[in-house]
Amino acid sequence: MPYERQEIAPERISQQLDICQQIRNLRAGKASLAFVDTYGCQQNEADSEKLRGYLAAMGFSFTDNEAEADVIVVNTCAVREHAEMRILGNVGSLNHTKKAKPEQLICLCGCMVQQAHMAEKIKRSYPLVNLVFGPHELWRFPELLLRVMTKKGRVFSAAPSDGVVAEGIPAVRDRSSVKAWLSIMNGCNNFCSYCVVPYVRGRERSRRAEDILREAKQLIDSGAKEITLLGQNVNSYGKDIPGGPDFADLIRMINALDGDFLIRFMTSHPKDATEKLFRTMAECEKCAHQLHLPVQSGNDRVLHAMNRYYDRAAYLEKVALARHYMPDLVLTSDIIVGFPGETDEEFEDTLNLVREVRYDALFTFIYSKREGTVAAKLPDPFTRADKQRRFDRLVEEQNRISAELHAAYVGKTLRVLVDGRVPGREGELSSRTSGGRLVHLTAAPELIGQWAQVRITGSNTWALYGTPENREE
Ligand code: SAH
Ligand code: SF4
Repeated sequence: MPYERQEIAPERISQQLDICQQIRNLRAGKASLAFVDTYGCQQNEADSEKLRGYLAAMGFSFTDNEAEADVIVVNTCAVREHAEMRILGNVGSLNHTKKAKPEQLICLCGCMVQQAHMAEKIKRSYPLVNLVFGPHELWRFPELLLRVMTKKGRVFSAAPSDGVVAEGIPAVRDRSSVKAWLSIMNGCNNFCSYCVVPYVRGRERSRRAEDILREAKQLIDSGAKEITLLGQNVNSYGKDIPGGPDFADLIRMINALDGDFLIRFMTSHPKDATEKLFRTMAECEKCAHQLHLPVQSGNDRVLHAMNRYYDRAAYLEKVALARHYMPDLVLTSDIIVGFPGETDEEFEDTLNLVREVRYDALFTFIYSKREGTVAAKLPDPFTRADKQRRFDRLVEEQNRISAELHAAYVGKTLRVLVDGRVPGREGELSSRTSGGRLVHLTAAPELIGQWAQVRITGSNTWALYGTPENREE
């Protein structure tokens, strides 16, 4: 029964928690350190918090050092080949740690291993891996791990059923962080022709609003000051729950919760971004005026071949509408360079769209062929070097625009949320404006976790620099 919504009954999650207790008893007296290694998107980060939640219930503490870990869980990504190669390389290198520590259990989960050919490859060529499970089976990780621990064989489980909605899995979050991920839906229905996500994450299913609100309240109560709502296409939130709130309604409901926090979200598919959403963002004082609206290409033929369901003009109209409601909007996007058959002229359309829109920042990718997708069968006459040349031009153009937009902040005073230290830069803290721009501060570490008013004194392509004016309580 693939593609059917399948709500996991609360008793079944309780059973998994009982199994956690069983594992705890089984391992009593043994060292129990776990390493959860996460690749890919924020949805995976959120999933890893749940893996840690289960592991903590089994009695594990956490380490970032794979050599000392008793259990390693690699939460994988399949969006581009580059990520897969890196993961396979790193898993291969675990041979050393496992030799030194033969009891070590190595688990692979997430999108990469949901692909049958990848699961097969692991089975054949990576005998050190003990457990493989797909994203739809995360909720029963304890049961699968117990099987590995007791039967001493390898376990492979990547069922094709993909409508799972599981509530009540405990999560272990980074307690020092004031930022929290909140997954509101899972899966994708769009089948963009280049993308593997719908095949590995399944169809869209939304969590119920009451469950989301309960989790949002818990996050705020435990100190979160920034909540990022996650989904592959948050704009279609609720379409699968007739009579329930849509995404804009959900933002309004979260905005009404008590507390001083900021709401962010990603990702928005342009075809489903509505005027109601932009109006709601403008009206909800806790909602950041920040939109990640991936365009992918500026050329109509390519957009059609990508199966994106909008053309350049429709996209530009949405951007204008969003900016009409939020003149201070911070806008970012994803672009794929070198989609099969994309010509130099078609790429120029992307470049001039970028010049026209003037994004605050861009995430740029060279097309990566994904097995099983429609685009994988298209002729692709351009070389990697052709694509790299286009890619470099795009990045250069965007860097220039980002630097110009950043320079315009200098002299302004902005409210930021201070989120941590800048690694390797003594005395510098990092913070974000409500639009999500990075601001480096020279300030005392007590400011971490606080809102602050900051005067911007400098800028470059990637960041702003500032000094705190006063501290907000
Ligand atoms: N659901 C989100 C994004 C998911 S993947 C959305 O639709 O916006 C994140 C980004 O990876 C995509 O926006 C796209 O730009 C890029 N991407 C996805 N598949 C890719 C592929 N096969 N090759 C290169 N980039 C890809
Ligand atoms: Fe992939 Fe398109 Fe779905 Fe995004 S909307 S996850 S790019 S298929």
